Amino acid sequence: MAGRLPHALLLAGAGGLGKAAFATRLSDSLVCTRPDGEGDACGVCAPCRLTLAGSHPDQKLVVPGEPGKMIKIDAIRDLTASSVLSAQEGGYRVFVIDPAEAMNRASANALLKTLEEPVSRTVLILVSSHPDRLAATIRSRCQVVKFAVPPIEEVRAWLAERADPASFEELLAISGGAPLRALQAQEEGWIEESRRLSGELATLKQRKANPLSIVEEWEKRPLTLLSESLKRCLSDLIKLASGLCDTTIYHPGLRGELQSLSEGIDLQLLYGFNDDLVRLDRESAHNLNVQMKLEYIANRWLQITRPGGR
Ligand SMILES: [Zn+2]
Repeated sequence: MAGRLPHALLLAGAGGLGKAAFATRLSDSLVCTRPDGEGDACGVCAPCRLTLAGSHPDQKLVVPGEPGKMIKIDAIRDLTASSVLSAQEGGYRVFVIDPAEAMNRASANALLKTLEEPVSRTVLILVSSHPDRLAATIRSRCQVVKFAVPPIEEVRAWLAERADPASFEELLAISGGAPLRALQAQEEGWIEESRRLSGELATLKQRKANPLSIVEEWEKRPLTLLSESLKRCLSDLIKLASGLCDTTIYHPGLRGELQSLSEGIDLQLLYGFNDDLVRLDRESAHNLNVQMKLEYIANRWLQITRPGGR
């Protein structure tokens, strides 16, 4: 396989489908000197031992400095500079960029040069859950490998061996049927977070709590967990407020709570709030002040739930 491998691969598909695991497996097999019949790394040769120790000099994972932030141009320049050197262990040199859409424009431009002038025995693996956000010039120079959501019955069977049966259907819903994401949801407590958050949103809507004390509570929780949960709740609120009662939502276990939470809120205001969250995410990637972000969210929610709207 290695001999016919393209210089750049784009692993594209929703989160939780195993793209990162695939990238690691491929990267490991490329540096292995004796991959098995399936193409998997042998796990015992000298390069494999370096891989297992996490210190193989020819494997590099390029990620944002902090989760949710951008991949800076310096990281790509390092990649470009080392990609022209020959591999230290004599095999392949493999770079994994995850998530590729975290590259800003300057980073993407810097990478483009490497994509346009491929170096032999160097492989770039781009991982992206949002390939639409990548520059077309980047996408067009990669061989795209699409990861699709497996049939629901297969996911059910796989998950049945690994997940808590009581929250099984809820895990499937909140993960959009992506198996690894369902496990992540279970481990990180996504359902519990949404339950807590929808309760807090209800309290705020009813003006029964001091918004600042709610913000204080939010600050104690992982920001990504909270903001992803908020986006999923809001998506459900929009569907429920649109009167799409029998539609699939992320939180079937909270349908009643979310239904009453959506009551009396103008649909346009919900859409506006959603746009604000998307914009906030984009801005946060550059400059994140957690407290201001959370206060802004609480204030916007208070605005759109003000009796009479606006
Ligand atoms: Zn090996």
